[in-house]
Amino acid sequence: MENCGRHPRAMCYETQYMREYSCGHSWGRNRQVIDCLRTACALSSRHDPAPHNCQQKCAQQMAAPVRVVQERFDKHCDRCILGG
Ligand SMILES: [Zn+2]
Ligand SMILES: [Zn+2]
Ligand SMILES: [Zn+2]
Repeated sequence: MENCGRHPRAMCYETQYMREYSCGHSWGRNRQVIDCLRTACALSSRHDPAPHNCQQKCAQQMAAPVRVVQERFDKHCDRCILGG
């Protein structure tokens, strides 16, 4: 199964916006939680408020985070520069 789109799965997940440097490091800049908006998800803002067997019926975890390189720098990162 390939994940070719921006919405690889119908689960909540976190998008991590990264800064990537020419040394190969990439550092997180900020993050955003994407809500799947399903009622059958314990993490969703639309989670079913009625009593139900949540452990069995609902997703309990986020999917793996998605990393998005938002900025790319043609230099080494601060850690490499300062750390020598
Ligand atoms: Zn969800
Ligand atoms: Zn539930
Ligand atoms: Zn580096």
